[in-house]
Amino acid sequence: MKEKILIVEDEKDIVKMLEYNLKKEGFQVTSCRDGEDALDLVLREVPDLIILDLMLPGLDGLEVCKILKKESKTSLIPIIMLTAKSQESDKVIGLTMGADDYVTKPFSPRELVARIKAVLRRADDKNKTPEILKVGELCVDFAKISVSVKNKPVELTAKEFELLKMLLKVKGRMLSRDYLLDNIWGYDHAMEIQTRTVDVHIRTLRKKLKSEARRIITVKNYGYRFESED
Ligand code: CA
Repeated sequence: MKEKILIVEDEKDIVKMLEYNLKKEGFQVTSCRDGEDALDLVLREVPDLIILDLMLPGLDGLEVCKILKKESKTSLIPIIMLTAKSQESDKVIGLTMGADDYVTKPFSPRELVARIKAVLRRADDKNKTPEILKVGELCVDFAKISVSVKNKPVELTAKEFELLKMLLKVKGRMLSRDYLLDNIWGYDHAMEIQTRTVDVHIRTLRKKLKSEARRIITVKNYGYRFESED
């Protein structure tokens, strides 16, 4: 699964250089030029990591970082801040605002890629799903790929299991239909078919989960999320 990286930077040359190098490393890359667009994109595309420049037009990098880290839906997304040499003290502020790491400009692509990999690895360890997860009457055993509701086994198809696993893994964050489709089915079709594929599987999954079906929440015009609170 290709990890998705969002670059938030207003300097075109840096964006170009980053896009080239990150794609070469096998990452999926999107970019935008200011903080407002970043906040919008993050909710729609749920990146695995954000490279956030400190100096941006409008909302600056620190403000964007603060907002993302405060929202439960986005707080787990790792952020690497880009700062200039003259902003030493801002770097420190950036870290206290919850950024996961920072890189000082000018930097070598190799250095940044190494940092990205390290941050992703850390985030992965931190977010690791336990082998067995119990939510209400629902019990999911990720190692055995088995699911039960009220101690009765539930037969899921491979895709239904993947769908449930992905929703559980992000701990309540919303996932768009496109994101689910890309990561579970991984093929491109006409938009209408895409949307329906996910919806159809959600419907059968809900039916099988019976009393716990209510935990799969539809986010209108967007996708789904899993509610673990009662
Ligand atoms: Ca900038």
